[in-house]
Amino acid sequence: MIGRIAGQFVLLIFRRVVVKMKANKKWVALPKDIRNKLIQNVFCPHCLDTVTIVEFVIVDDPAGILLEGKCKNCRNEVARVVEVDE
Ligand SMILES: [Zn+2]
Repeated sequence: MIGRIAGQFVLLIFRRVVVKMKANKKWVALPKDIRNKLIQNVFCPHCLDTVTIVEFVIVDDPAGILLEGKCKNCRNEVARVVEVDE
């Protein structure tokens, strides 16, 4: 019983790691100058302006990838979808 639950837990972690790796792969596949432009071009609903995203993580998204992080100016949470062709 415990072994089965532990097994499912490991599987869940494994799936998450795979999804993260997939998203990272898509992100790294983009040219560096494009990536820099995307990082510096995130709309912040608090600043009502285009800002730089900091401390972000890359999440897999049906449209491509999602950058989730903080606004460099006000430190509130911001996110941006990046459409990527697979
Ligand atoms: Zn902001």
